[in-house]
Amino acid sequence: MSLDFDVFVVDPKPIPSAVPGFEDAVGPATWPPSTSTLISDDGGALLVDCLITEREGRELAAWVKSRGREPGYVYITHPHADHFLGLPEILAAFPEARPVALAESIAAMEEQISPRYMQVWSGFFPSQLTSKPVAPAPLAGTTLPVGDSPATAIPVGTTDTGHSSVVHVPGLSLVVSGDVVYNQTHMWLRGSTPDSRASWARALDAVAALEADTVIAGHRNPLATDDDARRQIGECRRYLADFEAGLERSSAPAELIDRMTAAYPDLANPYTLWVAAYDLLGTQT
Ligand SMILES: [Zn+2]
Repeated sequence: MSLDFDVFVVDPKPIPSAVPGFEDAVGPATWPPSTSTLISDDGGALLVDCLITEREGRELAAWVKSRGREPGYVYITHPHADHFLGLPEILAAFPEARPVALAESIAAMEEQISPRYMQVWSGFFPSQLTSKPVAPAPLAGTTLPVGDSPATAIPVGTTDTGHSSVVHVPGLSLVVSGDVVYNQTHMWLRGSTPDSRASWARALDAVAALEADTVIAGHRNPLATDDDARRQIGECRRYLADFEAGLERSSAPAELIDRMTAAYPDLANPYTLWVAAYDLLGTQT
């Protein structure tokens, strides 16, 4: 077998709605569709991100096993628990695997699994999450071995959270992007600021500079046409710019929601847009 990759995809999941009118206007609130990527080569494999619920963690582990792979490392791209609460299930299936992340992201990951945050995450997914969450260990350097081929963790700063990173696999012209690039899915802009949005745009530039052909986004529309890197980076740049302009011209959540929905009628997980609009323009809900 030679260097290759494969993607495990989960559909949007229902969650309780916290924004007024969403269910009447759109339908059930959902968590975005998500991915985990397995990169493998002769003698080794690397799993990038590992989803959130116990069931997803178990299904992901079974999927990796079904491919005859034993990940040496599990790399977590950024400190959002929906990308690593599945870790205990992966480690139960692959006890030799080493969970790692950027050293500077570990404190935020530990915060994500603190009792206070776990209560928040459990509110989204009651009785579906591990009771023994695990944070990764700091990666020494930036190299992630995949059998005989190198992959590199590249820090890109703040995107939809601080200390984000992507995994670059030059041998596959591939970037596994975590939350830096979204594929035809509304981008998480709740809690964002002009600075954080500008930083996100710079992170997209950093990914573009890698000149990869393929990006596997952490959140990918199940109906996405492809994983083309240039298309996705271009679309995300435009979404950020349109959101910025729309925010400036809107004085209430509905205005921003209407503008962005008109411009992006087909993106996955509109709930993400509503949450951002009510957070940035709403009165306290
Ligand atoms: Zn995410």
